[in-house]
Amino acid sequence: MDGIFSIATIMLCTGVTTCVVAIALTYASLSPGAEKSTMWWCAAMWAGTIGLMLLAFRAVIPAWASIGVANSLVLMGYGFVRQGIAAFRNASAGKTSIWLGAAIWMAAFFYAPDFARDFNGRIILSSVMIATYAAIISVDIWKGWKEEKLPSYLPLFILFVTHGLVYALRAALAYTFPMGAGFDSLPSTWLAVMTMEVFVHVIGLSFTIFALSKERAENRYRMAAEVDSLTSAATRRFFVTQTRKHLAGKSNDGVLAVIDLDYFKSINDSHGHLAGDRVLRAFGEHVASRLEDGMLFGRMGGEEFALFLPRHQETEAALFVERLRAEIEAMDVIFMAHDLKVTMSAGLAPVDLVGMDFDHLTAAADAALYIAKDEGRNRIRVFKPSMRMHTIREGELEPRVGVTATRTSRRTVRPVLNKKARN
Ligand code: GH3
Ligand code: MG
Ligand code: MG
Repeated sequence: MDGIFSIATIMLCTGVTTCVVAIALTYASLSPGAEKSTMWWCAAMWAGTIGLMLLAFRAVIPAWASIGVANSLVLMGYGFVRQGIAAFRNASAGKTSIWLGAAIWMAAFFYAPDFARDFNGRIILSSVMIATYAAIISVDIWKGWKEEKLPSYLPLFILFVTHGLVYALRAALAYTFPMGAGFDSLPSTWLAVMTMEVFVHVIGLSFTIFALSKERAENRYRMAAEVDSLTSAATRRFFVTQTRKHLAGKSNDGVLAVIDLDYFKSINDSHGHLAGDRVLRAFGEHVASRLEDGMLFGRMGGEEFALFLPRHQETEAALFVERLRAEIEAMDVIFMAHDLKVTMSAGLAPVDLVGMDFDHLTAAADAALYIAKDEGRNRIRVFKPSMRMHTIREGELEPRVGVTATRTSRRTVRPVLNKKARN
């Protein structure tokens, strides 16, 4: 052993670290709703802990346990790490990799006495196998990153690539500078340095696997707050925030469209609520498939949606929404062998006419929508200053049956016109 580093001590420290992590992961595995990946990683840490402890006490533990069993457990640990990553990705990884490395090691150690006595041979075989595991795990991590951009995938990837390279180098060094061949101080130093790497690797691994789970949970909460689960449109709150943000950008263009499905209640009444849901989902998916760069689409509530078309003037926005209307009219929603049909009405409010205040835009778009509904539905109307009077008069004289509370209250907000409109 070298004066500064003691391999056994570093291994012991690493073993204690994996043990602490294993205890934390056991606790996490036992909590309700624990992910399968946590259980695999927990198994990996326990396998690593026992393996490292057996390796660390090589001086006092018989070789079959300290070398034979210990290395097998460590190799199994890598197999478990791989399963954990697969489970985390909701993918499947062949179960062979759990035991294959350990089986090869056991076979070589217990059935090939020459190999069992060859220190350098053992280092080379275990290093090659660990490097292979690290390479396979790196590929899996990379796939995970491709599927879901969780930031901690990247340090985890770097960790395993480095780990693989270190072990490939370890095999090469053991081959080039075998111990007991006259390089006595050199081999123990590089062995110690590499054992140090394992210590750093275990700590990094622990941080990143906890961080991965946390990042996914955060993403889920954010998604729930930002995306409507039925229609995949933005939630009302997120839509309003994003549109306001855009309007604050001082670009004096864009059009807000408020879209409402026609006679939607009758779909629920004649085919049931599930049919209604199915139509809402189909509508959401269709609009989403047509959205152009920068457009914002949100569900304002029930069967009412809003679409913000930035950098659009009145004419092109009207063309876009009219095309959407025609496509929705032509859309067939198949539900329990029924061909459900739905149409939409929309009211548009251009920023250059109404101004950049979101509430005014909504009120103006609502006024136009009211006219579209009033004129027979399945049509779009662009807000005109004269509409406000019209809707208020109509509303006062003869309140429409089925007008939602939101729309009624919104109509009382006066659209304030900008200079161009007032003149
Ligand atoms: P109009 O043409 O005037 O818009 O008539 P409408 O029937 O579409 O409007 P109304 O406001 O009278 O009815 C809307 C219905 O939408 C009432 C409500 O039960 C239904 N609804 C709201 N949210 C959902 C939902 O998430 N799923 C389903 N299936 N129905 C919903
Ligand atoms: Mg409706
Ligand atoms: Mg409605």
